[in-house]
Amino acid sequence: MKDPSKSPLGKPTSAKSPLGTVPMSQLLQIPEKQLTVEVKDYLPDLETLTPVQGAIKIHHKGTFLEVSAQATAIVTLVCDRCLAQYNHRIALETTEILWLEEPEDLDNADWVEREIETEDLIERISPTGSLDLTQWLYEQLCLAIPPQKLCDTSCDGIAVADEPEVTNEPVVDHRWAALAQLKQQMSS
Ligand SMILES: [Zn+2]
Repeated sequence: MKDPSKSPLGKPTSAKSPLGTVPMSQLLQIPEKQLTVEVKDYLPDLETLTPVQGAIKIHHKGTFLEVSAQATAIVTLVCDRCLAQYNHRIALETTEILWLEEPEDLDNADWVEREIETEDLIERISPTGSLDLTQWLYEQLCLAIPPQKLCDTSCDGIAVADEPEVTNEPVVDHRWAALAQLKQQMSS
């Protein structure tokens, strides 16, 4: 296996990770401690009609990593209502904070407290580890797929054959309508 730390930053390290990985140690050596990686790739686990296009920006801020991305991709989804396939354009624009913490630190009380304080900021990465850009972007794109999939907001669902409208009112032949009215008057 190739040593990922020997590969250039943000360059493909394997077919599984076409965007490559960014070792924290190397990110710290860059004067601005930040890196922008252009993206124009198909991701291994995400089926898209077009390559994912955009950019990922990684900024080492001492105790945490700020990762932001702008990316677009077209995916084929199945409509929840009519089950037809349709194409959906994902327009991703996100920023995520990853705490730089060793996994063994996670059990101590300090961490638990912080997790409660910051609520959603629970993502973390080892200060001596690497960020797998492909995996990270894949997760972000998955989160960007709408939970309710509709081919159109006015989708009527599965088309059914025309049937006579069902109403709760009794069907009265118009020729007997007058009689029915008379009966109603007599009984009241
Ligand atoms: Zn539909």
